[in-house]
Amino acid sequence: VLPDIKDKVALITGAGSGIGRAAAVLLAQQGMKVCLADLKDDRLEGTKQEIEAAGGQVITADVDISDPNRVQKAFEQTAKTWGQIHVVFANAGINGVLAPIEDMKPEDWDRTLSVNLKGTFLCVKYAIPHMKESGGSIVITSSINGSRTFSGFGMSAYSSSKAGQVAFAKMAALELARYKIRVNAICPGSIKTNIGENTQPTPELDKIKIPIKYPEGNQPLEHAPGQPEQVANLVAFLASDVSNHITGTELFIDGAESLL
Ligand code: NAD
Repeated sequence: VLPDIKDKVALITGAGSGIGRAAAVLLAQQGMKVCLADLKDDRLEGTKQEIEAAGGQVITADVDISDPNRVQKAFEQTAKTWGQIHVVFANAGINGVLAPIEDMKPEDWDRTLSVNLKGTFLCVKYAIPHMKESGGSIVITSSINGSRTFSGFGMSAYSSSKAGQVAFAKMAALELARYKIRVNAICPGSIKTNIGENTQPTPELDKIKIPIKYPEGNQPLEHAPGQPEQVANLVAFLASDVSNHITGTELFIDGAESLL
C-alpha cells in the first residue's frame, strides 16, 4: 500500500505496548526495518516475536527515553545495524501522577515532563545525525489534551507536556526542513491501550471532580475508545512520502472527541 517505505528504517519508542506496538507491527508489515525502543519488559520481546514471526526485520533497544545516554545509544545501535534512519515515531509517554495543582509534588510534575516532553526532545535531537543526509519523517504522539484542557482530572502536568510536544514539533519542523526532515504531532483521543498502568491517581482528586457531560471515551463517531491500529494507520501515512507536503502540523485522531 505504501511502497516507498519498504526497506527503510524506523525507530519507535513505546513499542512494547499500545499505540507504539501497533505502529511497529504495521510499519514492519509494510516492509520497514524497525527498532523497538522501550523500557525493558516482556512485552517488548512480545512485539519483536510477533514481527519476526511475520517475516519482519526487527531489533530492540532497552531505553528510558528520559535518559540522554540511552536514547543516543539506541539511535547509534540502529544506525550501526542498518545505516540511515528514515522514520522516528517518538511515542512513549505516561499519564504519571494525577493530582490537583495545589497537591502536585514538584518531583511528580518533573517526572511527567521528563518522560513526555524531554524524552521527545531527546528522541529528535539524537535522531538528527542519522537522518540529515537522506531526510525523513518524525511523528510525535501528543494528545487532544494538548489543546483541550479536560479529559481527566488532575492532568495539569500531562496536558502541559502534551501541549509542549506540539510546540516542539512545530519548532523542529521549521529547523529541520533544511534537511528535508518532516515533523508532525498526532493528537489521539481516548485509545484502548495499557496507559492505565502508568497512571497514578491520588485521593486528593476528589476535591476537584466536577460533573462532566460525556463519559471518557464516548466519541461521537464510534461511541467507544479508538483502537491503537487506527492510530498506526495515521503513523504509516505520515511515515510515507504520500504525506510529503505535511510538516509542522498537529493531526487529531479522536472520532471528534475533542469537539465535545
Ligand atoms: P501504553 O502504556 O500502552 O504504551 C506506552 C509505552 O511507553 C509502554 O510500552 C511503556 O513501557 C513505554 N514507556 C513509558 N515510559 C517510558 C520511558 N520512560 N522510556 C521508554 N518507554 C517508556 O500507552 P499508549 O496509550 O500506547 O501511549 C502511547 C502514547 O500515546 C503516549 O505518549 C500517550 O500519552 C499517548 N496518548 C495515549 C492516549 C490513550 O488514550 N491511550 C491518548 C492520547 C495520547
